[in-house]
Amino acid sequence: KLEQALAARDPKDLRSPICCILGHVDTGKTKILDNIRRTNVQDGEAGGITQQIGATYIPASAVETRTEELRKGRQFDLKLPGLLVIDTPGHESFSNLRSRGSGLCDIAILVIDLMHGLEQQTIESINLLKMRKTPFIIAMNKVDRLYKWQTVANSPIQDAMARQEEYVRKEFEDRYNQVALQLNEQGLNVALYWKNRDPRSFISIVPTSAITGEGIPDLLQLVVKLTQSLMAERLMFVNNLESTVLEVKQIEGLGTTIDVVLVNGMLREGDTIVVCGLGGPIVTTIRALLTPQPMREIRVKGQYVHHKELRAAMGVKIAAHNLESAVAGTQLYVVGPDDDVEDLKDAVMEDMQDIFSSVDKTGEGVCVQASTLGSLEALLEFLRSDAVQIAVSSINIGPINKKDIMRANAMIERGHRKFGVILAFDVPVTREAASLAEQMGVRIFTADIIYHLFDQFTAYLKTVKEEEQEAAKLTAVFPCVLKILPTCIFNQKDPIILGVEVMEGIAKVGTPICVPSRQGGVDLGRIASLEKEHKSVDIAKKGDTVAMKIESTKPEEASRSYERHFDHTDELVSRITRKSINVLKDMFRDELSKDDWRLVIKLKKVFKID
Ligand code: GDP
Repeated sequence: KLEQALAARDPKDLRSPICCILGHVDTGKTKILDNIRRTNVQDGEAGGITQQIGATYIPASAVETRTEELRKGRQFDLKLPGLLVIDTPGHESFSNLRSRGSGLCDIAILVIDLMHGLEQQTIESINLLKMRKTPFIIAMNKVDRLYKWQTVANSPIQDAMARQEEYVRKEFEDRYNQVALQLNEQGLNVALYWKNRDPRSFISIVPTSAITGEGIPDLLQLVVKLTQSLMAERLMFVNNLESTVLEVKQIEGLGTTIDVVLVNGMLREGDTIVVCGLGGPIVTTIRALLTPQPMREIRVKGQYVHHKELRAAMGVKIAAHNLESAVAGTQLYVVGPDDDVEDLKDAVMEDMQDIFSSVDKTGEGVCVQASTLGSLEALLEFLRSDAVQIAVSSINIGPINKKDIMRANAMIERGHRKFGVILAFDVPVTREAASLAEQMGVRIFTADIIYHLFDQFTAYLKTVKEEEQEAAKLTAVFPCVLKILPTCIFNQKDPIILGVEVMEGIAKVGTPICVPSRQGGVDLGRIASLEKEHKSVDIAKKGDTVAMKIESTKPEEASRSYERHFDHTDELVSRITRKSINVLKDMFRDELSKDDWRLVIKLKKVFKID
């Protein structure tokens, strides 16, 4: 049946693939999109390209026109009705095109700036594409920036390359090889698309210029060819509704509406639909199915065209009651004659429950908040990744309210100041919440680029650690064992000044010193200063010989003196306690070697700490 459908090229049997554009900021995603949408005629809607909600529809005929030169008279065996390109490039819309964690985007274009190579969001995008198992091709954009590039506007890329001077081609090759290597490091095999004989294992790269149009015909042709050859089955039109909420929007005169990508099936005015709401499932009736007014009919009254029914693939706006709390990035279901509404209500909430239950709410970690389920999922995935590994204690969707601050504050109250933090992706903070956060010392980091949250949080962790270390300096006791040099007794009594050799561990200014061999431990005071080779130092390590000044910190220590309370046959050691060990573990773990930790254990026995 599939073969037949393809052969007959019956647009009723195949739906248009959905294509997203991803990549780092400023690589040219928007410009590529503009270029793909551009029509030859000035008139806005010529060539059948139509503006939908959140997406642009490129009919097969427009693809054919655009790729004519590339085909040089050869026929393009085009079987798809067209291509639906999502209008807002980037993570957000890609993440929201989801159903139970798998992607609804059929194919993606990853844009890389030829001059910059892989950047942070490129890697994030690659990870997202891998996570959703979405096939993609790479546009290596801005070829026109190569030194002395000769513009051959809108031409196929190989023709344009052939017209360049040798050294331009050489520069391209060098840069291409560099980027290819970086992609290999991300575990991707890549090839220039005209050399790629195995598109299932190698990712095709198309050099492009979004400004002068070289390579754009190639990009379009490749998207269409790949989708129709590799995923014809996936693109069979079926009457089962497959649809996802991309955005929830307030529209004047319509109230809260949802922008939906209809991936498969049909939607009709009057249909009863079920969508996921923050507070529970929403059951409502489609009052209006809307698409934007075509450009040339801009003078027609009203912003939108109403439809009785619409067929996939489509970007549509749905107006209905009770959509205020709808969650973007979730499924939309239509209640059919044989459906049980209760089942659909459960189904619609499942997605959210899956994600919410994936976070261990009893644990310690930051609070995470995002505007949509899709971006929340992407953010959690990022925080979980090997390179990041930030623990999450709770999650939420929507604006940050007082309640969210209270949850973060609970972390502070439990003694985890560093987790008294909300990482907020693309959500507003209510004024009340902001002032409460200030009062409680909860930090809110907001960003609309995921890795910026990571950068902010890591910088914050560093300052928290420094502050805590500073505060803990007096309680943290580094372990040491000292041997007194009998010929170097400079002062016998408070302050005691001795020459010592560090036998084990680390002697640090501030460390309380004790003589364990006398009367169950005689405390002498704290190290006030250290001198090594006549220079003042903060720290002395195993093998160092230093002059050490010990000052009393308690009244009884003031009377301790050399010979009466201890002499050169006694070892001096750090006075550790249960508490000081804990502080050491919490704040200075990395500053102690394995041997140092062994010494801590030895001293624990000396002081009978269990
Ligand atoms: P986005 O952030 O990925 O959507 O990037 P934009 O499409 O907004 O482009 C960022 C900047 O790069 C803009 O100043 C564009 O004019 C420029 N740009 C995009 N594509 C190209 C290209 O192919 N060649 C050149 N020279 N500039 C480009």
